[in-house]
Amino acid sequence: MKWLGSGPTRFLIGADGARARVASALGLGASSRFLAGVEYEYAGATLAESDKLHCFIDRRLARGYIGWVLASVNGLQVGLARRLEGRGALKPNEAMDAFLSKIAPVIDLRGLAPTGVRAGIIPCGGVVQPVAAPRALLVGDAAGMVSPVTAGGIHTALKHGLAAGNAVADFLYRRAEDPSGWFVQSYPKFRVKRLLRLLFDHFQSDLAFNWLLSTRPMRSAASIVYFHHKGVFDPVQSNARALALPPRQDSPS
Ligand SMILES: Cc1cc2nc3c(=O)[nH]c(=O)nc-3n(C[C@H](O)[C@H](O)[C@H](O)COP(=O)(O)OP(=O)(O)OC[C@H]3O[C@@H](n4cnc5c(N)ncnc54)[C@H](O)[C@@H]3O)c2cc1C
Repeated sequence: MKWLGSGPTRFLIGADGARARVASALGLGASSRFLAGVEYEYAGATLAESDKLHCFIDRRLARGYIGWVLASVNGLQVGLARRLEGRGALKPNEAMDAFLSKIAPVIDLRGLAPTGVRAGIIPCGGVVQPVAAPRALLVGDAAGMVSPVTAGGIHTALKHGLAAGNAVADFLYRRAEDPSGWFVQSYPKFRVKRLLRLLFDHFQSDLAFNWLLSTRPMRSAASIVYFHHKGVFDPVQSNARALALPPRQDSPS
């Protein structure tokens, strides 16, 4: 099999991020809804309340998402994301200047130079369709595999990327059918999260969310959403994968 003009392959995994070229070359689905995000890193900087994720709601600066400050392993991570709409791209420096000024009364980082910057787009419309074709599948951002609520895609990219590698190996060693059929059915559906995103997109209110975030139920819900343990590399999960493998039709039962 020869695809994309780059040589023959027996199976192709498209894990090339939000602007997936593999998907477009194979005529697979593409994300059409995105957030644009920018994050500064401040190595060595500290925070008074370092055990908290500090969230900032601002319909103007971070429409459709939030701004955040958190203590990381080496310092601080500070960023924001907002819905990417037709009216112009996010200008990372301008957006961060405005955000840093806004949060200065509580966390003033304006005197520090960031030691790292990352920016990019984040798919937020759910898993693309179709996400696979015979002997090919997408995974991670290329598959739109990002939580539409938290915009977190690292966990799902790792979890399903690892499982996809195993599934393809099983296929190539004739231990399982082509994973483009059975494996992609394990991808997250994000049904509730897509609904929440729709509601947030249409009814985002700074007043309401600031109030909600100060209530105990909302804080508990937020801590579950952002901090629950998902166990990507738990041994139990690896066993579950092995059990979930469908046998090849021609294998002995
Ligand atoms: C500012 C920002 C902050 C974020 N913060 C978080 C967070 O806190 N938590 C979280 O869970 N998620 C976060 N995300 C989302 C997260 O980064 C992505 O969901 C995750 O990185 C997806 O991983 P991936 O491997 O699918 O794609 P990517 O990380 O985009 O990796 C794709 C790779 O493919 C490579 N590639 C592309 N085209 C080609 C080609 N033609 N040939 C060779 N290589 C190619 C790229 O160079 C890249 O290395 C954030 C995103 C942004 C933009």
